[in-house]
Amino acid sequence: MAPEGFAGAVLAWFDQHGRHDLPWQHPATPYRVWISEVMLQQTQVATVIPYFERFMARFPDVETLAAADRDEVLAHWAGLGYYARARNLHDCARRLVAEYGGEFPDMRDAVADLPGIGRSTAAAILSLSRDAPHAILDGNVKRVLARYFAIPGWPGRSANEKALWARSEAVTPAQRTGDFNQAMMDLGATVCTRQPRCPHCPLQSGCQAFAQGNPGAYPGRKPKREKPLRTTTMMIIHGPQGILLERRPPTGIWAGLWSLPEATPPTEDWARDERRLEIELVDDALPPLRHEFTHFSLTIQPVRARLLSDHGIEDADRLWYNPHADSAPGLPAPVQRLLHQEESPT
Ligand code: SF4
Repeated sequence: MAPEGFAGAVLAWFDQHGRHDLPWQHPATPYRVWISEVMLQQTQVATVIPYFERFMARFPDVETLAAADRDEVLAHWAGLGYYARARNLHDCARRLVAEYGGEFPDMRDAVADLPGIGRSTAAAILSLSRDAPHAILDGNVKRVLARYFAIPGWPGRSANEKALWARSEAVTPAQRTGDFNQAMMDLGATVCTRQPRCPHCPLQSGCQAFAQGNPGAYPGRKPKREKPLRTTTMMIIHGPQGILLERRPPTGIWAGLWSLPEATPPTEDWARDERRLEIELVDDALPPLRHEFTHFSLTIQPVRARLLSDHGIEDADRLWYNPHADSAPGLPAPVQRLLHQEESPT
């Protein structure tokens, strides 16, 4: 199929079967497309929609987001995971206001240079909102192109990614680029999925993987590596005003979120020496919790304790959280689960 034939088939399919009613399409401003694209980087559309709507209700434009408190941005992200995305969003909004008067620049490379935005996201923002003629290459598009052109190998390898970019550039039309890019994302999300529905695909007649009878072989899988295991102990210290939370450092895992204190070993001496708290251990045999990160697995051993005295220490990076009285701060998902279990023990 010639490139025009490819684009024509995809656009004709989009007009009939594509997604035209996603919340960020009405209106498809650069700001709204940007937020949705970042939310969609690791998360399914159905999960993203309520997050997107809550985010827009609180941060309707770049200026509001730039002026917001970091904690509040993280709190609106809590549950979506990959918190670096939220921190980058916030940093990016501040740069847009400081350097570009709150507007996205027109040049793709200038957009790609902003925090948390790479080449594909920059192209998606500019094409979906302004119909700028830039090709994209997100996970869905990689899958469609790897199958259609039978490009072997894992797309994470730079040589394979380069080959996919070249194909994407070649098939992307200069007219209706925004619709075409949306169509490719929709096709990858709804037809050319893990179990592809080839009889419903507009590209079937030219698809090499279909002709070979093995779409599942494309794209190649990432070479396997065992994930390392890590363990930590979290103290659930109950005081008269709630449960003690501490702000995580500004870099590293869960940077800037609120979490339970981690103690090794979790003893009364640790609390006195490291936190100036007098506590009494109540239960160190609570069920452990496992949490999967991309690069390692974490086993959390919770330990319940009771506060006897806190020496009146004032600390901006410490709070006593009462789930019945306080609005939820930005919490990592496993900490949320532990706090929830504390509220309603089985
Ligand atoms: S024919 Fe099948 S494998 Fe090929 S692009 Fe369409 S859905 Fe994917």
